[in-house]
Amino acid sequence: MKDKLYLIIILLFSLVLIYENSKNNRFLQNKHIVNVPHPLKTSKSEFPTLSPLPSSTPTPSLIPTATPLPGYCLHVPVLLYHHVQPKALAEDLGQIALNVDSQIFDRQMGYLFSQGYTTLSAKKLVAALRDHTSLPQKSIVITFDDGYKSVYDYAYPILQKYHFTGNLMISTGLIGGSQYLSWDQVKEMARNSLIDFTDHTWSHYAINNGTKDKIELEIKTGKQQLEEYTNQQIDIFTYPYGAFDDNAISILEELGFIGAFSTIPGFWQCDSFIMSLHRNRIGNYSLSEYGL
Ligand SMILES: [Zn+2]
Repeated sequence: MKDKLYLIIILLFSLVLIYENSKNNRFLQNKHIVNVPHPLKTSKSEFPTLSPLPSSTPTPSLIPTATPLPGYCLHVPVLLYHHVQPKALAEDLGQIALNVDSQIFDRQMGYLFSQGYTTLSAKKLVAALRDHTSLPQKSIVITFDDGYKSVYDYAYPILQKYHFTGNLMISTGLIGGSQYLSWDQVKEMARNSLIDFTDHTWSHYAINNGTKDKIELEIKTGKQQLEEYTNQQIDIFTYPYGAFDDNAISILEELGFIGAFSTIPGFWQCDSFIMSLHRNRIGNYSLSEYGL
């Protein structure tokens, strides 16, 4: 009698496990991306970390050089933007804290153009660090985090005007939200060789916390969706909130990622910290004030 009861308990437990497992598999193997739940519509408790960067666009200070610089290093500033749109519109939309006025952005790009900068894709920077090859003397990488619609409306035409390369760090689950890009806009920009993409998780999740399964799901879903919609190989990552630790880095490396961007400031990039490359938040000031 006791044995029978024991068997029944084991049987029930196995059934629950099989069910949970198949649920997870269905989610990961889901080819029809539209069925992936939308984090903007998911309960807050499950995705508590949706408002992007908490701090507002900073006033400029000369970007410090992080020391030491071990390994193979290249001087390549990486600029970090979120929204680019007219100041008045950003005020109306409550997006002023993360906004650079589109006219100021135009002047900033014009400055880089007149100073003879070469704009690079994130891929090119990572490849040069991995292969120990050189880059044009005044190389720079321009990045836009989260995938805001204002980047398509205002920054994208300005990049095209100067024939500049831009990199979009996209949280795929946010795509289609009212202030975010649509997948059609992502696809259109992906067809333009000037625009590149990196994985910024699915729900803008800070991958320095949570279970390994959750972290992997966030990274892999972002990668799969971006690869499907952009037809680009996605093997570079950008940390939401700039949050990372050794565990996050080893999971990324297990998943085949070869480079990642943090929010640690500095103009030098080295192969010794290729999984936490440096970036600099840019606000509404001339780029010379940031030391460029
Ligand atoms: Zn972000």
